[in-house]
Amino acid sequence: MRLKVLGAYGASDAEHNLTGYLIDDWFAVDAGTLTSKLSFAQQGRIQGVFITHPHADHIRDLPHLIHNRFSQNVGSLTIFAARDVLDLLVRDVFNGIVWPDFSEIVSPLSGKPAVHYRALTPGKRITFNDVALTAVPVDHQIPASGVILELNGQSIVFTGDTGPTQEIWKRTNKTPNVVAVVTEASFPNDQQALADETAHLSPQTFGEELKKITVDAPVYASHRKIPYERDIESQIRNLRDRRARVLLEKNYTL
Ligand SMILES: [Zn+2]
Ligand SMILES: [Zn+2]
Repeated sequence: MRLKVLGAYGASDAEHNLTGYLIDDWFAVDAGTLTSKLSFAQQGRIQGVFITHPHADHIRDLPHLIHNRFSQNVGSLTIFAARDVLDLLVRDVFNGIVWPDFSEIVSPLSGKPAVHYRALTPGKRITFNDVALTAVPVDHQIPASGVILELNGQSIVFTGDTGPTQEIWKRTNKTPNVVAVVTEASFPNDQQALADETAHLSPQTFGEELKKITVDAPVYASHRKIPYERDIESQIRNLRDRRARVLLEKNYTL
């Protein structure tokens, strides 16, 4: 599978982008960065997007993606999230105040609503076109679920933001042919207390999570906070685990 990393940081400036991933050009995971890095035509090709949690850095471009889709003659975009996450998105974002609820407005171009919501039951595997998705809860400050995504015989795991966690690793270890795990390391080791309080990982706790993962695949640290990106990178390297990598904003072929 092809993984296009549109945003690999937990903050943004002119050279760093918020969390957003695109698989084989048609399925997205998180929407911090989608519209800001994709052409109108590329946005029109996205068929589904999985949202890990409603923090602004993971949904920033979602209202704009929906709006752009509304102005194109394309099928509905399916927004997937664990049920508790989807309920928050609809209540707090697509509520007719912050943004319209485009699931209830028919596009004059396509004759269909621009979006369709699909709430996932944690741990239950569902299929959508060629992809299988399993939402698995993680440990963050608010309701949050990562996703195990299976496509053409390969699997990839995205935790989204999380502190130390268990369930998604148990599932990962039972999943066939995992080709990559994308998790996070937001703060450097000298800010461990802040990482713990905000339910994020540092390279040190990323290293502890690595011990829970038995699959032999690269495990990427995403969501670095900008001022500490070099520190985090060297601390990940110092873990001396050949699976441990820092996620870069580039295209990966897995
Ligand atoms: Zn975040
Ligand atoms: Zn978050």
